[in-house]
Amino acid sequence: MALIIFTPLLEQLRQHGEQTYPHECCGVLVGEFDEAGNKTVKSVVACGNTRTDSPHNRYHISPTELVRIQREARIAGLDIVGFYHSHPDHPAQWSSTDLAEAHWTGCSYVITSVEKRKAVLTNSFLLVEEGESKQFANEAIDLRDAIALAGDKLR
Ligand SMILES: [Zn+2]
Repeated sequence: MALIIFTPLLEQLRQHGEQTYPHECCGVLVGEFDEAGNKTVKSVVACGNTRTDSPHNRYHISPTELVRIQREARIAGLDIVGFYHSHPDHPAQWSSTDLAEAHWTGCSYVITSVEKRKAVLTNSFLLVEEGESKQFANEAIDLRDAIALAGDKLR
């Protein structure tokens, strides 16, 4: 299982983290699930971080914004396949808070470390259900280039 994303979209979410530095950025990944359990990101939707109390190490997407994104995705025949945020001056690894606040099992949680306003590493974690609890599993990011995207459109 992998998160398939095209280079310009990955760059878009990484740049968002550079723009909001030293605060966390956050947003939603809209795309498609396939039968094999892979997800393809079709668009990256930047959200405002509504955590004003500690925006440097917390993020929150407003429910109203999330509902709107979900509605627009459905209209386009797509789904919410994941979420992303940045870790200013911290590693691209999930925190216990990230796990506690993650509720969309089957979705990808993408984290980019940003050091001194420069996006460094981007990792993806799949939220999986384990009995009564949930867990993050490492997920491969399958990076595709824009040429393949153009090919898709031609077909
Ligand atoms: Zn985090």
